[in-house]
Parts: sequence; structure tokens; C-alpha cells
Amino acid sequence: MTIALRTLDDGAWISVNDSRQVSVSDVWALSHGVFCDCEPAYVLLEAFVDVDVDGSIVVADAVGQCLECGTRDPIDRLPVGRIVDGEFRPYGPESIQWRVEPDGEPA
Ligand SMILES: [Zn+2]
Repeated sequence: MTIALRTLDDGAWISVNDSRQVSVSDVWALSHGVFCDCEPAYVLLEAFVDVDVDGSIVVADAVGQCLECGTRDPIDRLPVGRIVDGEFRPYGPESIQWRVEPDGEPA
């Protein structure tokens, strides 16, 4: 099956199968060390740069800013949801677990 993934409105949304699913205006809690030194880091996303699917996991490249320390950086391959039976299931900002190891390179 083919899942159509794209960013819309200058990166404000991730569209899945022509339906706007993930908004950039949410705050995402990212685990320690991968974005900044906060634990966890509450990162306000500013824009989605790209979106891709890695197996069944939908990952987005984004730009965000930490609400605590002000670090502003790109975020590579942030998992925003997964594909189950051809349908998109968003993780949501509260349930995010960014699984990139702090000492490793993103796959
Ligand atoms: Zn921070």
C-alpha cells in the first residue's frame, strides 16, 4: 500500500493521505540529551521540513525551540506516528518517546 506523506502550509502541517494530521504548533517532550540538556526537553516545533516513513513509523524532520533553555535546532527524524493497517495513528505530543540514542547517529 502507498501512504502519501507531505508537509503543507510551509511546514505547518504533516499531511497523510491528503488529510492534515499533525500540527507544528504543539509542544513535544523529548528525552534528555538528544536536543538540549533539559530533562525532558519541552520543544515547541516551528516547522516540519520533511516527512518520511521508516518501516511503519512516520518520522519528520523539523525545527524546534526548547521552552526551558531556548535552544533552537533542527530535529531529525522525530517519530510523529505510525501506520497501522494503512491508517495513520498519531503518537501525539504527550506520548512521544524520541528513541535516538544521545551518543549515536540517527539511522
Ligand atoms: Zn532545553
